[in-house]
Amino acid sequence: MKNLKHSCQMSGECCKSRGEQGFVALEESDIHRMEIHLGKPREEFAEFRSFSSFRNITEPHSRWIIKGTEKQCPFLANNKCSIHSVKPIQCSTWPFWPDLTKDGEWDMSKVGFCKGIGK
Ligand code: SF4
Repeated sequence: MKNLKHSCQMSGECCKSRGEQGFVALEESDIHRMEIHLGKPREEFAEFRSFSSFRNITEPHSRWIIKGTEKQCPFLANNKCSIHSVKPIQCSTWPFWPDLTKDGEWDMSKVGFCKGIGK
């Protein structure tokens, strides 16, 4: 990756759903941190869902995601993450995901909504 810049502008836009990208995938370590922080079992904030394909993985795939992300993440409050200290890896690594770049540049068809891109 060359010269890929991003500085969060606190718009909250990356926490709002956009069609098939409208979910937050959870790693086991994310779920563990969230269970402790929220004091709830995973079934109360997450669901196990099957996908016919998952991002750049083409075969059928099942995994835990945050429940209720159809419009926006339920943990988004006043454009801020209400679980910032334990937020999932998917969120803390945004937008530095391999499938969001093309030829070493941001793929603006996927990240153009983010006001922090290029800053
Ligand atoms: S967990 Fe936090 S950072 Fe991740 S999508 Fe939800 S509100 Fe945004």
